[in-house]
Amino acid sequence: MMKTCPECGSNEIISDLIVFADEALSGLHPPYVELVEHPPAKRPFIWVPKTAASGFRAEVCGECGHTQFRATNHAELLKALKQGYASQQFALKDILTV
Ligand SMILES: [Zn+2]
Repeated sequence: MMKTCPECGSNEIISDLIVFADEALSGLHPPYVELVEHPPAKRPFIWVPKTAASGFRAEVCGECGHTQFRATNHAELLKALKQGYASQQFALKDILTV
């Protein structure tokens, strides 16, 4: 937790703020990061990858506005990373193809 602002030295820190990124179609939807399990070499007919996700909390300096983000589920992300999970990479063609 940020106790003192690294920019201005103030102790006036506003902590534990939920970070929202509103989208017109889904309403209030906080942003998150996600790590996804790699498919096994012999992928079964039905296979759903396991995932590890985390949202964020923000800490904002009340004096100068300096802001830091902190992942709320960092331990689970680290565990997943060590198991070989990776951030999913979406190619533009995958999004545009129907
Ligand atoms: Zn500050």
